[in-house]
Amino acid sequence: MQIIIFGAPGVGKGTQAKILSQKYNIKHISTGDILRESVARGTELGLAAKEVMNRGDLVSDTLMGGLVKETLSNMDYKKGFILDGFPRTIEQCNIMDSIFSDLGITNPFFIILEADFESIVNRLTQRRFCNKCETIVNLNDIPDANICPNCGAIGSFIERKDDNIEVVKKRLDIFEETTLPVINYYQKKYKVAVLNGTASVEKVTENILQNISKYFDE
Ligand code: AMP
Repeated sequence: MQIIIFGAPGVGKGTQAKILSQKYNIKHISTGDILRESVARGTELGLAAKEVMNRGDLVSDTLMGGLVKETLSNMDYKKGFILDGFPRTIEQCNIMDSIFSDLGITNPFFIILEADFESIVNRLTQRRFCNKCETIVNLNDIPDANICPNCGAIGSFIERKDDNIEVVKKRLDIFEETTLPVINYYQKKYKVAVLNGTASVEKVTENILQNISKYFDE
């Protein structure tokens, strides 16, 4: 089961990808997470990506293509995966096609999550990560903005540097100009499910699961 989950920053790709990864026991590949880990470890990739990410810009297509190819080649990709955060440009679509053709991946399923930009700005600027249990929360949705509802840790929330309002606006501009055309590309080539990403997490998951079983049972 090879799935690509697509949508604007903050639409809930990561949350849904984690749920699907657990449900189907397939690997979740998040290019953003891989880059953030590389930044935290101070690797060559991390050094190259750090400032670009903090500004809200896109890391180069060549670097990202190499990263995805290496990640897929070094895992049991036939067992399945859910790819989150790639491709983000038409050039990355071309790179992805060539990687998939090299690896013999022929029927990936594309899930596109849609949301209006106002909801996204709200989600991203209120988004926090618990540095103890890695739960993602929205400060508007939890009873106490200082206590993690999952593990009970106090004062453990951190904000991503690129979730501040200025950088969020820039990320959404880039999404609109550079990443949105990717949808057209997908729709011409592959089977795609376009779903509402603003519903509750549970509802979005339910919709995704219905579409996955329809696609893979056909
Ligand atoms: P994300 O966590 O997916 O929102 O990604 C965080 C940041 O990582 C993005 O704003 C980009 O700077 C970088 N990034 C992640 N995936 C890609 C990609 N496919 N192409 C270019 N840059 C990326």
